[in-house]
Amino acid sequence: MACSSRITIGGLELAAKEKGIKLMGTSDFLHSAWLSEMEANLEPINDSELFRIKGSDTGIRFMLTGEVSTVFTGKDGKAKAIHHIIMLPTIESVKDLRSSLERYGKLDSDGRTPLSMSAAELVEKVFQVDKRAFVFPAHVWTPFFGALGARSGFDSLKDAYEDQEKHIHALETGLSSDPEMNLRISALDKYTLLSNSDMHSLPKLGREANMFEFDEKDFTYESVVNAIHNKDARHLKKTIEFYPEEGKYHFDGHKDCGYSADPTANRPTVCPVCGKKLVIGVLHRINDLADRQPGYAPKDAIPSVHIVPLREIISYVIKKGAMTMAVEKQYQLMISTFGSEFDILMDANLEDIAKASSEDMAEAIKNVRENKVNILPGYAGIFGEVGLLNRHKGRTNTLGIKQKSLFDVPKA
Ligand SMILES: [Zn+2]
Ligand SMILES: [Zn+2]
Repeated sequence: MACSSRITIGGLELAAKEKGIKLMGTSDFLHSAWLSEMEANLEPINDSELFRIKGSDTGIRFMLTGEVSTVFTGKDGKAKAIHHIIMLPTIESVKDLRSSLERYGKLDSDGRTPLSMSAAELVEKVFQVDKRAFVFPAHVWTPFFGALGARSGFDSLKDAYEDQEKHIHALETGLSSDPEMNLRISALDKYTLLSNSDMHSLPKLGREANMFEFDEKDFTYESVVNAIHNKDARHLKKTIEFYPEEGKYHFDGHKDCGYSADPTANRPTVCPVCGKKLVIGVLHRINDLADRQPGYAPKDAIPSVHIVPLREIISYVIKKGAMTMAVEKQYQLMISTFGSEFDILMDANLEDIAKASSEDMAEAIKNVRENKVNILPGYAGIFGEVGLLNRHKGRTNTLGIKQKSLFDVPKA
């Protein structure tokens, strides 16, 4: 469900190469059809417990991962729905986990496996299957499905995972929050903050990423897990972040009425247009749980950088929808000139970018690198909109950018 038909192992590898991704999760490993695709196409690389496409020499590696959704009733009597990421070292473990979880849900009904069990039960089962597993909550702040989300989550990971919280060492900040926001909550200091991407549509790969550094011989499942578990800055160098304001649950709001509210300014709880309850966004939720002011950074925090996906930047600069041929053509031209999307966004020389595309493109990328973007924040399931050029600053609405949709961003 909700998965592009272009998603094959081969398609993922090609897209990863364009983006500059060297290690990616297989995702959805509990779904039998996808597991067959994985088994038919992947082979382990030596003893690393990482995988590559059979016979491939691109250097792109896969790790066995899956996202599951646990639905259960909390001790407070309220319905809870939480998404988790599971990482495993071997296909055998994946199969054992399938057998172990079969009685909790229809494993093949969705790639993001729905399970009728508590978060604690899930973690217990996973570690019974393989002690070397790694589990953490996905997009921890989203109102629906986030372990700390306003609608179906908890106020702490200890509440969410109960006695199994001892196995939780990381969390995924999700698109609508970034490390800076999470660092405002001292109770989260013990967890490593990770940033991952959806893999159900190829252009969405790499909207967020984790940047690791390993010697070739040490590049293994175990070393990746250890780097995360230990928040080891020698190997986990930084996270690459989507601007959280662009995420679709940053502000509070009501989608149908197009109403959004900045929770730090005024805090209505109902929509002033129709009177329905607002969807409480991530910023509001973090403000409620935070015990530190914005800007606090502990010494062991992993650095982060913010990016805007290149197709969005091109779309903005040439004023064409992000999914159009015109954008794709420019994207492919830039990739063939500079290497990968991450190279272009973070490293390529701006004068070279101006020469290869346009002055506006170079200015937009410079503004992204320098955190000088204007953003109309997302809310209630609607993505935020970014403004990237200096001459568009302060021109239209109070946030400095046009209210109407600037990009053909899929809203689902
Ligand atoms: Zn999810
Ligand atoms: Zn409304």
